[in-house]
Amino acid sequence: MTDAAIATETRDLFSKFDPLINEREALLATGVRDPYAIVMDQVLSPTRAIIKGKETILLGTYNYMGMTFDPEVVAAGKKALDEFGAGTTGSRVLNGTYQGHKEVEDALKEFYGTSGAMVFSTGYQANLGIISTLAGKGDYVVLDADSHASIYDGCAMGNAEIVRFRHNSVEDLDKRLGRLPADALKLVVLEGVYSMLGDVAPLPEMVAAIRKHPNCMILCDEAHGMGFFGPNGRGAYEEQGVEGEIDFVVGTFSKSVGTVGGFCVSNHPKFEILRLVCRPYVFTASLPPSVVATAATSIRKLMHAGEKRAHLWKNSQRLHQGLTDLGFKLGSATPQSAIIAVILTDQMQAVAMWQTLLELGLYVNMARPPATPAGTFLLRCSLCAEHSDEQVEQIIAMFETAGKATGAIN
Ligand code: PMP
Repeated sequence: MTDAAIATETRDLFSKFDPLINEREALLATGVRDPYAIVMDQVLSPTRAIIKGKETILLGTYNYMGMTFDPEVVAAGKKALDEFGAGTTGSRVLNGTYQGHKEVEDALKEFYGTSGAMVFSTGYQANLGIISTLAGKGDYVVLDADSHASIYDGCAMGNAEIVRFRHNSVEDLDKRLGRLPADALKLVVLEGVYSMLGDVAPLPEMVAAIRKHPNCMILCDEAHGMGFFGPNGRGAYEEQGVEGEIDFVVGTFSKSVGTVGGFCVSNHPKFEILRLVCRPYVFTASLPPSVVATAATSIRKLMHAGEKRAHLWKNSQRLHQGLTDLGFKLGSATPQSAIIAVILTDQMQAVAMWQTLLELGLYVNMARPPATPAGTFLLRCSLCAEHSDEQVEQIIAMFETAGKATGAIN
């Protein structure tokens, strides 16, 4: 009996996963590799790894600024490991605040120019904690339909009413806010850069629409904008000149910063109280000393990373142009961020193309529903400031070969 047969014959709490199990089994039976089980046996640099014995260009890492192998960042982590040990073994509130946590929060306050900064163990937990703590029963969270799972989960945990508006639609946002009771308290959650298609929110227009309505605070998730957008690398909200209008910025250390962790920064005078009432902050262990030391060093270096930012933009523009010239349909008509998504509508073709790219020595992310809209499969590329011009040309050539081999392009 196969595993799939077992899954469908016995009814238990796993039965709801049967359709997914069967779809996966059918896909793997065609002989393709599992797109969600790739192992990097060695990582050579921010842009190169060994996968199944083959040197592979990494184009699906979110390592936008290439900080993972920065010598000063790595040295700071090693020093903290030696001096403070491997972990804190506890929550910040009771037993887990080390000097390094203060240092990384100071670095964030300087980076963002805010009076408050609060570090979480991941970006997921930052959204979960901040949204659920700020917006509770009787309040409203107004969010873009394409919001990240951590934003949706934060809403669910806080029991607020959820109101969704059409992705990046200023008109729909305005309309939905207009229907809410004027005296109700509302948190509007936006993302600077949307991770699936790599498109950017029209923040000034959105802020103007929000400000027409009473009792709204604005949170902007800059997970994919930090490091890359704006003169100081704060994110799309800085680049678009709406810094004074955003009440909370949430971000992550797992992308441009090059390690793991999450944060929220704010100028609100009562911000510090959240440390005592935010459950995903209170009831979990704090980040290890080595991680906060790498993050603090990386954040301080990102303040002066203008050249890297310029090179990353050049890479994004070249890849977008190269893939457009080859005839691929992309997630945005112009290069808007460091994410470039190739859109395919056939799952088998998408997986075949993903596998062909891997065999050629290129790793990209395969994204599928429910992370993407129904019937849309993405080969999502995220560029790094450390990709050389030569690597970008190699990437375009590999897409040409794989696209032709799988019939995705002519
Ligand atoms: N927000 C957005 C928009 C994200 O894309 C992600 C991660 N992909 C997160 C939050 C969560 O970040 P982390 O990896 O630190 O949990």
